[in-house]
Amino acid sequence: MLGRTHIAIGILLALLLLPFISVPSKLLFVALVAFGSLLPDVDHENSKINKVIPVTRWIPKLFKHRGFFHSIFPVIIIYGVFWYFNERFIGLSLAFGYLTHLFSDSLTRMGVNFLHPVSTWHMRGPIETGTIFETAIFIGVLVGIGAKLVF
Ligand SMILES: [Zn+2]
Repeated sequence: MLGRTHIAIGILLALLLLPFISVPSKLLFVALVAFGSLLPDVDHENSKINKVIPVTRWIPKLFKHRGFFHSIFPVIIIYGVFWYFNERFIGLSLAFGYLTHLFSDSLTRMGVNFLHPVSTWHMRGPIETGTIFETAIFIGVLVGIGAKLVF
């Protein structure tokens, strides 16, 4: 899935979650979720995150796309590190954003192996990355964000 679709889905899910949680800053929460929603694609050379933060560009050379970085293990590591440094809000926000990415990728044909490398089972869906179908989802999610902000 494209970076823009991941950011949009992350923002929409963050907005939907906001009424049920208490956070120090709603804006910071949404921003951290949006950033977290880009993180799994550090394992892809041409991803948005690798264009924004060039220091992670070595990762695709060592890790295959949708392997370890598209499993739940980095989510646990990210949350654990921020929990250790007593920054639970940041850790939870980034972890939630990361999970929104894994969830949206699991709707694509390529799918996601949440337990890589422990298991080989992929959760898959009907969406093909970069197609008109994905663009339609992107626009639908934007409309959802707009509706959530207005109502
Ligand atoms: Zn991905």
